[in-house]
Amino acid sequence: MIPYGRQWIDDEDIKAVIDVLKSDWITQGPKIEEFEKRLAEYCGVKYAVAFNSGTSALLAVYWAVGLKEGDEFITTPITFVATTNAGLWLKAKPVFVDVERDTGNMDTSKIEELITEKTKLIVPVHYAGHPVDMEKVKALADKYDLKVVEDACHALGAMYKNSKIGSCKYSDATVFSFHPVKHITTGEGGAVLTNNADIYEKLLIFRNHGIVRNKKEGEWYYECQYVGLNLRITDIQCALGISQLKKLNKFVRRRREIANIYNHYFGNIDLFETPVEKPYAYHSYHLYPIRLKDPSQRAYIFNELRGRGLGVQVHYIPVYWHPIYRNMGYQKGLCPNAEVFYKSEISLPIYPYMGEEELNYVIETVKNLRML
Ligand SMILES: *Cc1c(COP(=O)(O)O)cnc(C)c1O
Repeated sequence: MIPYGRQWIDDEDIKAVIDVLKSDWITQGPKIEEFEKRLAEYCGVKYAVAFNSGTSALLAVYWAVGLKEGDEFITTPITFVATTNAGLWLKAKPVFVDVERDTGNMDTSKIEELITEKTKLIVPVHYAGHPVDMEKVKALADKYDLKVVEDACHALGAMYKNSKIGSCKYSDATVFSFHPVKHITTGEGGAVLTNNADIYEKLLIFRNHGIVRNKKEGEWYYECQYVGLNLRITDIQCALGISQLKKLNKFVRRRREIANIYNHYFGNIDLFETPVEKPYAYHSYHLYPIRLKDPSQRAYIFNELRGRGLGVQVHYIPVYWHPIYRNMGYQKGLCPNAEVFYKSEISLPIYPYMGEEELNYVIETVKNLRML
């Protein structure tokens, strides 16, 4: 089976991990800070804090920007459930904005009508690696005094209007994931990037049990001032992250190359539409999502592809369709474009490790598809 995504680990990565295993520190040592520093440099931002998953990073940053019980946050239903579940842990309420039919990203023209007295935060998700139109989001955040946290778990290496996703030029903070299907991996892992010193301090505290260090009574002293968690990443993982980060540009270039080849071969197939890249976007193609023109064909085409050995996937079931959200009162029909997007979408295999043989096999298989 050719998967829809996978990691690329080489001998250099393996050596980096082994070196840490032989060293004095396997967690909370120097590799964590080094990874954070390099990630911040790569994105052109002041601070980075690494976490043991993207989900942990989301929870920590929502807490750090002050999201709390009774608050609302506006986000897209075309995302992984972690984007909104993290808000539920803080007892905040997700408000779903419909998406653009072509990019699958939140439709920024529909955000303003959803803003209420309770709105605290906007969470744009750069679906598949295509940036959201962030100038629009920032203008609204400024007008209504809202926070903006980018869920950029799909978008490491992407750019919006010549600024790197992660630079936080249009947001308070940005979240990445380093799960093996994402652009670089640490096994499990994530990070928050920010230019805000207050958010940065809070992230460090939340990652480490809510503990604040001060030497009030002596060297041994610390105080637990918040209900934090242990969301720390290890040095083992960060050594892998540092090594992977060196290859990020190469990985992104290869993803874009594969996407261009797919666009070339699939662009005039009648059955489906290929992904778009808006003038303001530099797409990093975490996914290559096609959209079937006739959604009634989706199950058939999906099964055909799986039957021929392509590990295709569907991204995503609209978040509010899941039982926990249905039980909270969200109804089907809430975001019509998102529902059509879900019903017509299939993610084809795309990952830098893909060889020419696999690539050609995907192209031939997809070209030979016929409607039921
Ligand atoms: C992967 C992902 C997450 C969660 O990241 P983990 O590292 O798997 O916890 C959150 N949001 C989106 C959009 C993702 O794709």
